[in-house]
Amino acid sequence: MSQGAISSTVRSFGRSLSGLLLPGCCCLCRDDVVDYRNPKVLCPTCEQEQAKAKKCVRCSAVLSHENALPSEDCPACHHLKLPFEEITSVGNYDGLLREAVLSAKSNRGTASAWDLGQLLTSGLESHPAAQPWIVPVPMHWTRRIRRGTDTAAILAKSFARKTGWSYRKLVTCQRSMAKQSELPITARKKNVRNAFAVQGVVVPDRPIVLVDDIMTTGATLVELARILRKAGASEIRVAIVARSTPQYLNV
Ligand SMILES: [Zn+2]
Ligand SMILES: [Zn+2]
Repeated sequence: MSQGAISSTVRSFGRSLSGLLLPGCCCLCRDDVVDYRNPKVLCPTCEQEQAKAKKCVRCSAVLSHENALPSEDCPACHHLKLPFEEITSVGNYDGLLREAVLSAKSNRGTASAWDLGQLLTSGLESHPAAQPWIVPVPMHWTRRIRRGTDTAAILAKSFARKTGWSYRKLVTCQRSMAKQSELPITARKKNVRNAFAVQGVVVPDRPIVLVDDIMTTGATLVELARILRKAGASEIRVAIVARSTPQYLNV
């Protein structure tokens, strides 16, 4: 068993054990989760709220009223050419979810990120036929040292653990970049151009699920999809925790 598999097994066992001994905590509102024998990451209230939210199956925009489907009518994406089969998210980057993401991104946020990774799996509307590879959006090593954590990697490992699909570090970040969130929308595409590289072999009929914490314009994800398709990938999905204000780049 690899070191990663051992540590995730220990973490999972720890969560089950703490669920038996201590009240679990909802990863959004921090309330106690009532059923101690079946530790969950959401309390019943947040679970209900999650089930109620209607999202576009193509771009994951939260739709304003329950019958605002189908997705070809989605105001956020109907005019866009997106290089993904599907984007799923837990919700919009505000309120409790924003606080949970900020907690997960902190250098003590491993447990929060792990819980959010478990939540991410419920978002895949149409499960890919073949077993996909779960691929974290890469972070440059200098940023990881500064931040003290790699949130996307923890999310992806948690996601892979829950689904039983394979975690693959299929792409790397080759250079340090300006933070996307600090750049004007128009500069973001240029900032990430040629910043990433595929490591290893892409298997064409193996679906890929790219995992990250927040998506704003999607510029990073679009650039990753571009190099992965160039390397032979045929099916790319995106799973993000929080979707910021829709302002996608067109490709
Ligand atoms: Zn809750
Ligand atoms: Zn949409």
